[in-house]
Amino acid sequence: MDIIFYHPTFDTPSWLAGLQQQLPSARVREWKEGDNQPADYALVWHPPVAMLSGRKTLKGVFALGAGVDSILSRLQAHPDMLPAGVPLFRLEDTGMGLQMQEYAVSQVLHWFRRFDDYQALKQQAQWQPLVEYRREDFTIGILGAGVLGAKVAESLVAWDFPVRCWSRSKKDYPGVTSFAGDDELGEFLRGTRVLINLLPNTPQTVGIINEALLEQLADSAYLLNLARGVHLVEEDLLAALEKGRIKGAMLDVFAKEPLPTHSPLWQHPRVAITPHIAAVTRPDEAMAYIARTIRQLEKGEKPGGEVSLQHGY
Ligand code: NAP
Repeated sequence: MDIIFYHPTFDTPSWLAGLQQQLPSARVREWKEGDNQPADYALVWHPPVAMLSGRKTLKGVFALGAGVDSILSRLQAHPDMLPAGVPLFRLEDTGMGLQMQEYAVSQVLHWFRRFDDYQALKQQAQWQPLVEYRREDFTIGILGAGVLGAKVAESLVAWDFPVRCWSRSKKDYPGVTSFAGDDELGEFLRGTRVLINLLPNTPQTVGIINEALLEQLADSAYLLNLARGVHLVEEDLLAALEKGRIKGAMLDVFAKEPLPTHSPLWQHPRVAITPHIAAVTRPDEAMAYIARTIRQLEKGEKPGGEVSLQHGY
């Protein structure tokens, strides 16, 4: 079995060695420009078109992250990048769920305990206890209730917050109120105090967090964008912050990354920023997951994690 690997920033030698250890009978190599030798599986992130083009005999392509937008967005211009019948897999959780939980819980607690307000008071050397927020006024709404959305929901339920989620299909997660489809988006938004975005990047979700959506949230709402920059219309967020519709935002992802130095988001006192690190690929978990999936495919089984090309995630 031949496996080709390409990632623009990962430590390729350690991935090749790790994969080799997980799949001792496989021949694992780094893909380089001009390599047209046969391969059974391709492990990729932002792959050059030439790496996958026309490889009709591939038994599977693995995206080395949870999102597959970087591959699917190029399929229209280069349809032979994923020849018909070649399944595309992505990483499901592989350690990212816990990281998303850490990120979301710490920031929700930060806002709930009014540490943002106390930080502002500190700037003015003011000693002033504030009215406590109540959990019943602090409903958390999670856009996207898949692998990562479900994990985040679970952790916030454990902290006793009212939690709701929005997805295409209805969910039955303990302690979580589920809303599904465009018809129920308005109801989901009304009463949501903290909006957490964990949607995939698809044509239906681009620009979804815009003025019209932000207007529907509870007063003095907060936004946590953990998914993709294209989901958020950044100018609409800035306007909503100015109007006081939105009290604070924490953003991990941006329309343009790295976030340009001239972006007003950098200077905004009520916007916190991290550089797309909410949940990174953990090599050991990811390699074990990929190896397990390949073994299942080799046995003719149907593993999880296959991307629906029709739905785009
Ligand atoms: P997932 O399991 O595929 O979950 C996606 C969720 O979104 C599902 O609940 C799905 O509904 C819902 N959804 C998709 N399209 C929708 C639509 N048009 N309307 C309503 N709901 C819709 O994905 P995941 O593994 O949780 O990952 C989510 C995203 O997080 C990834 O795509 C990636 O972009 C992002 N991410 C970011 C980082 C970071 O470091 N910032 C790290 C990892 C992942 P159904 O359940 O009904 O299908």
